[in-house]
Amino acid sequence: MVFADSHVHSHLSFDGSPEAIPERMCQKALDLGLTHLCITDHCDVNGPELGYAPLDEAAADREIPACRNAFRGRLDVGYGIELGEATEYPDRARAILSRHDYDFILGSLHNLKGCVDFAYIKFEHPGFDAPLIEKLYERMLLETEALLSFDGISSLAHLTYMERYVRRAGKTVPEDGYRDVLKRIFRLMTERGIALELNVSPIARGEDNYTMPDASLLKLYRECGGELVTVGSDAHNPAQIGAGIREGYRLLLETGFSYVTVFRRRKPVLYSLR
Ligand SMILES: [Zn+2]
Ligand SMILES: [Zn+2]
Repeated sequence: MVFADSHVHSHLSFDGSPEAIPERMCQKALDLGLTHLCITDHCDVNGPELGYAPLDEAAADREIPACRNAFRGRLDVGYGIELGEATEYPDRARAILSRHDYDFILGSLHNLKGCVDFAYIKFEHPGFDAPLIEKLYERMLLETEALLSFDGISSLAHLTYMERYVRRAGKTVPEDGYRDVLKRIFRLMTERGIALELNVSPIARGEDNYTMPDASLLKLYRECGGELVTVGSDAHNPAQIGAGIREGYRLLLETGFSYVTVFRRRKPVLYSLR
């Protein structure tokens, strides 16, 4: 049976745990019974402007393929990257992808153009009233739609990342108002062969049963012809590897999907969930 975690961070990510040594992560995945582990370290192309420590690309090139070889036949190790804000500096993004032999490219949007990561926005401030949150959410969706035009993305990471921080502030985003733009995004993904990521990190971290995206958006993606879904824990330390993945598979089955997707050499491979 497939048991694949397609989104994990090693110590090479600016916010990864020092204990997250790729070899240790692979051993942990093997101990848990995972069949696939794809290491997707952060590379936000606007990182220099935001003051993030850059990804040590040479170290990743050494450490992750070495694990693939060491664990061959026991665990399928993928070499991925979480490429953030590719359309903010597309030339930088293209240059990064051209330098490495990735299996999998997660496309992320952690911030609106020229703004900080959604995680750092104080949505609890009274100034963030419903109309302002709606405006920002719509802008986020439009920037996500633009991100999909960037060539090379395998899977769209945590589509509703912004909503997570709005929810933490005790506020909500009225998704019903955005079904047209969401349908456009999902149809574009289907046309371009871009998978949707089911990011289960809120489950993995005990926040609640929330996932990014949630069941209603998974169903909408399915209605728009979407078939490719990757599932990731977004682990930033070895203890979080594989957490929430089984719950994610159950949610996929409940929302009309029979397969989970894993990328190998940038190509989707589908595994039955039954
Ligand atoms: Zn992310
Ligand atoms: Zn991540």
